[in-house]
Amino acid sequence: TVPVLTIDGPSGSGKGTISRMVAARLGWRYLDSGALYRAVGVAAGWADLDLDDHGALVRCTFDTEVGFRDDGRGEPRVLVNGTDATDELRTETAGAAASAIAAIPEVRAALKDRQRRFRQPPGLVADGRDMGTVIFPDAPFKVFLTASAEERAQRRYKQLNDKGVSVTLDGLLREILARDARDAQRAVAPLRPADDAVHIDTTGMDIDAVVEQVLALVKP
Ligand code: C5P
Repeated sequence: TVPVLTIDGPSGSGKGTISRMVAARLGWRYLDSGALYRAVGVAAGWADLDLDDHGALVRCTFDTEVGFRDDGRGEPRVLVNGTDATDELRTETAGAAASAIAAIPEVRAALKDRQRRFRQPPGLVADGRDMGTVIFPDAPFKVFLTASAEERAQRRYKQLNDKGVSVTLDGLLREILARDARDAQRAVAPLRPADDAVHIDTTGMDIDAVVEQVLALVKP
């Protein structure tokens, strides 16, 4: 079977950057599962859907095509129904919509097979909230990344600022805490580490050190 490394954790824990770097080093594929939920959130916004209309959101999940275009430089571009929506996906509005939609069990079920299809040779790095618990429970390598909420807000702030998005650190911290609470408390696939996950607290660690620590699990 094709090996999978799952990297789960809350927003801003460094999952995205670290997963991409580890995937590049291993020559493995990369699944950004959060982008799937964000894409549905953005598509729902385009269609002016009500976030309480679960039936419409489930239909929207089936109807939304998500494509990843990776030129090997920096963040892969994400296409939603053929339109490059990479920048819109990264906004906290899209994150909040994703988090609301991700609490709907039928939406999660609809995205399950799509995520599993990323498991292809020579291997997969899967980044998300439930990669090690629900989507790839049999993965041989599992990591759970954390960092203090303050540090996570700071990282997000820097990321968004670099892109010219105007946000306040305080507002971000509040949004991150609200999103974490919802992700941890939802009935279906709540954010929690798999029993067999290796925990890494990235507070105060630089990215390269985390990458080396993760790589050492896969290639001891
Ligand atoms: O990881 P990212 O911040 O892009 O995820 C956006 C939202 O999508 C999360 O807050 C979470 O609610 C949801 N999500 C999820 N399961 C995943 C990935 C993301 O529920 N595997």
